[in-house]
Amino acid sequence: MIKRIILFGAPGSGKGTQIEVLANYFNLPKISLGDILRKEVKGGSTLGNEVKNYMDKGALVPDETITKVIEQNVNGEFILEGYPRNLSQAKNLETILKRLNIDIDAFIYLDTDEKTIVDRLSARRVCKQCGTNYHLKNMPPKKENTCDKCGSELIQRNDDKPDVIKNRWEIFLQESSQILDFYDKKGKLIKVDGRGNRDDVLARIQKIVK
Ligand code: AMP
Repeated sequence: MIKRIILFGAPGSGKGTQIEVLANYFNLPKISLGDILRKEVKGGSTLGNEVKNYMDKGALVPDETITKVIEQNVNGEFILEGYPRNLSQAKNLETILKRLNIDIDAFIYLDTDEKTIVDRLSARRVCKQCGTNYHLKNMPPKKENTCDKCGSELIQRNDDKPDVIKNRWEIFLQESSQILDFYDKKGKLIKVDGRGNRDDVLARIQKIVK
């Protein structure tokens, strides 16, 4: 039985969208690192104030800070996205999981290209209350600018502006090959075509991960 999954991919590769449906499908609690950090920023906590500047620029928050967050959230069973984002985080996660005497079952890589992510991120809107993602064209809300789930206003994330998107994509290019290599060697890497709509990608994942 699948108990621990990591969802990996570039910003805009669909991790946030797929984790919602996959958490239900596999009946696993979801951990979205970006969502956890955004909640801290919104709540004005010490951690939130510490990470806000990095997030607005699309830069990675230093590992030392992120490690504490991940240690507090990873436990038992999960589907995780947003971590690891570089090789040192991947190794760190190994140490944490070893300590807990567990390992991941699948590392799912949502493979996309730059055009797809620029299109998705620039048209992405998120609910400022519950964080649900929309796409102005492919996944629009029923009522303009309003969340289907909770009725709150939709906003554009600061880091979904064009120059920040570019920065995030470049970081992904720099860091991703080492991570993919790491999980490939562990025999856990599952590569899935992340292009197309939510249900197409979901069907591809379901076909491979059983
Ligand atoms: P996301 O919602 O996953 O795109 O994450 C938004 C932002 O949160 C990133 O651009 C980083 O600034 C920060 N962040 C999320 N996950 C990590 C991580 N594993 N390591 C460092 N920074 C992160």
